[in-house]
Amino acid sequence: MIAQVIVDIAAKQTDRIFEYHIPDELEGVELGSRVFVPFGPRKLQGFVVGIVDHSEYQGKLKDLLLVVDEQPPLTQELVELSKALANKIFTYRISILKTMLPAVMRANYRKLLTPTDEITAKLPIFQGEAIDLNKVTDEKMNAYYRKLLKNGQAKVEYVVGNQAKAKTINTYSLTEKTDEYEKIYNSLRQNAVKQKQLLMDMIEDASNYPKTQEAIESALQITTSVLSNAVKKGWLKKNSVEVYRDPEADIIPKAKRVQLNDEQTGALNEISQAINEHLARTFLLEGVTGSGKTEVYLHAIEQTLNQGRTALMLVPEISLTPQMVNQVKARFGQNVAVLHSALSKGEKYDEWRKIRRGEVKVVVGARSAVFAPLKNLGLVVIDEEHESSYKQESDPRYHARDVALWRCQYNDCPLVLGSATPSLSSRARAQKNVYKLLRLTKRANKKQLPAVKLIDLKQIQFAGSQFDFSVELIEAIKERIQKREQVILMLNRRGFANFMLCRECGYVMKCPNCDLSLTMHKDTASMQCHYCGFTTKIPQACPNCQSRQIRFLGSGTQKVQEELTELIPDAKILRMDVDTTRKKGSYKRILDKFAAHDADILLGTQMIAKGLDFPNVTLVGVINADTGLWVPDYNASERTFELLTQVAGRAGRAEKLGEVYIQTYNPEHYAIRLAEKQDYEQFYRYEMNVRHAGNYPPYYYTILISVASAKEQNAAKEAFRIRRKLQSSLSSTTIILGPTPSAISRLKNQYYYQILVKYKKETGLIALLHEIQDAAQEIKKYGLNVYID
Ligand code: ADP
Ligand code: ZN
Ligand code: ZN
Repeated sequence: MIAQVIVDIAAKQTDRIFEYHIPDELEGVELGSRVFVPFGPRKLQGFVVGIVDHSEYQGKLKDLLLVVDEQPPLTQELVELSKALANKIFTYRISILKTMLPAVMRANYRKLLTPTDEITAKLPIFQGEAIDLNKVTDEKMNAYYRKLLKNGQAKVEYVVGNQAKAKTINTYSLTEKTDEYEKIYNSLRQNAVKQKQLLMDMIEDASNYPKTQEAIESALQITTSVLSNAVKKGWLKKNSVEVYRDPEADIIPKAKRVQLNDEQTGALNEISQAINEHLARTFLLEGVTGSGKTEVYLHAIEQTLNQGRTALMLVPEISLTPQMVNQVKARFGQNVAVLHSALSKGEKYDEWRKIRRGEVKVVVGARSAVFAPLKNLGLVVIDEEHESSYKQESDPRYHARDVALWRCQYNDCPLVLGSATPSLSSRARAQKNVYKLLRLTKRANKKQLPAVKLIDLKQIQFAGSQFDFSVELIEAIKERIQKREQVILMLNRRGFANFMLCRECGYVMKCPNCDLSLTMHKDTASMQCHYCGFTTKIPQACPNCQSRQIRFLGSGTQKVQEELTELIPDAKILRMDVDTTRKKGSYKRILDKFAAHDADILLGTQMIAKGLDFPNVTLVGVINADTGLWVPDYNASERTFELLTQVAGRAGRAEKLGEVYIQTYNPEHYAIRLAEKQDYEQFYRYEMNVRHAGNYPPYYYTILISVASAKEQNAAKEAFRIRRKLQSSLSSTTIILGPTPSAISRLKNQYYYQILVKYKKETGLIALLHEIQDAAQEIKKYGLNVYID
């Protein structure tokens, strides 16, 4: 038999399939297996995408070297998906195949360098050990190693990458000698107290063996040596058992059962019908914040499991809060696997294996969980479907929604998209009946949506000079705190100040690698680039003209926290942004504290805008609604409306009525005006007109082609070449914009030029883009990178 393999060639990607002969001892190889193959002088990882019994190839096929995993990591569905998706989003199949797997399984091979004995003798630091070249980050050392190789003073060997390892623990079980235990007991010396204890336990508690080493040691207060003695004497058997790393395995919270209201029931009935009849239908569940969408999802998942099928629920990383996960676990217990970035690599690998082995029926996770290897899929739910984080912004540039659509077609099952503020494109599809629109118009607890008030920053009095708070907002916060209620404040900008400006010469301090201003962080006393991580000291004077007249402008969460402390000294504040949530578990810690009312105010970036359900929060304040309004992106208004509506939805979710204050310099802008009214429908109509006038999605499809190079003219030249190629082939109804420098024209020392293609129908476009993509592989060696999005 012959295996068709997509080989993981890192440097030069290709979708060519290579064929290998399957030797007898590797008969276990299957479709979807991860294998190692000889490739020129190297040994590389690859994935089996087909098994056939004869080959067209004239020469002699090489043998597969080994099968890496016990069970093929990819299902047939995923193998097929990788092909369809690579074609759709202009990338290579290998890049998708690797994205489908947990990080620990993506590793390719290790390149080990061993110096000759002669060198080792001269330089004892090597101690004869091999050096993992993939891990050498120091450029000087790298150059040195290359020199050794060139001079024949070292050799290189390729070995299988760091294997993903299952965790094992020791357990002890009884041996066949059970009948003799009493005799052995009586023969023990008087003072062999510990051994007697252990034997007693084995006799009296026999039904509870095997026990874990930890359980025995802590229950009997004995040491490991007592156990190993027993093993040596043959009374006890030691086993090594594979376990999952699941820190919360035993915490199964109690389920809260609610009776669905009429709107929820109506929506569920439609979805249930599609589940029961195996229809690949897409639903858009548009429900105001607090309308109980989650409850509808959970019921639909239950229906799916009752049908003997499995369910996948995607939520934005940010909504993957303990609150949310607990709700699902409460309902489906041990049947749930959770995939999110707070898990360690090992934990993720374990959750993934539970899914692959069919041990769980429900998967909850962020974007990449859309590739979960569930079999017999019966439902996919995407909560907060408008979230931009469902789109991956680096290769492979997939949108989880598109992948979900494909999987639902493949499995003949429904897809449910849920949101209070659906993306314009989804809503437009529902308008045309491509998706079925289901509406929840009221909050589930019959309470009103919070009242929203705009505060015009051009008109009002600030709570102090250089402060970001209006008097009105500060008074409202104080009042709520006095009543023992809680407040959520949002400012979508982290750090202390957005940029440093010299009042003398106008200089703004920028990142040396990127065309971005540096953000001032007071807590770490540094200026930081939020893109590439560049860090330097806070200047005392202007680096350009040495003037001391420098200002730090554009407040971030750190500054606002400082203001709050000054304005309301006894308020207890929790801050949640990227800087306070770097450590594992810190996110949960902050939310737990706030839930326990250990703080009055939760201040944060957009991290706090979504999904949180705190009954005691009655006031939401937006410090500056305009932060995202003027970014050069056709989505800016949609994003702003969405964010304001979502964060407003955090107020007044239980008994007490909620209130929202939005501070803005642009109260007349439609995105802000309509967010004040929380009127999605009107926003949708207005924004559709704007998009129509500007030839933007959803009226046009858009493709963004970016060219990057360390040399600006090279990037520009290549971009113009691509434009000419497009222009000569595409129809006149297609709009080609650019090339222009990208909105951020330089990142990590690479200059970016972009071309935007807007089209309605263009039959030759796919082939043309594949051509451009293949040509891009050829020019990589000149330091040019082309990205198609
Ligand atoms: P959404 O996801 O639409 O913002 P949630 O699903 O978080 O809303 O529900 C908001 C609150 O209403 C939750 O506390 C939930 O338990 C509650 N809830 C949901 N459905 C019902 C119902 N039918 N009756 C009473 N309370 C409900
Ligand atoms: Zn200056
Ligand atoms: Zn930078």
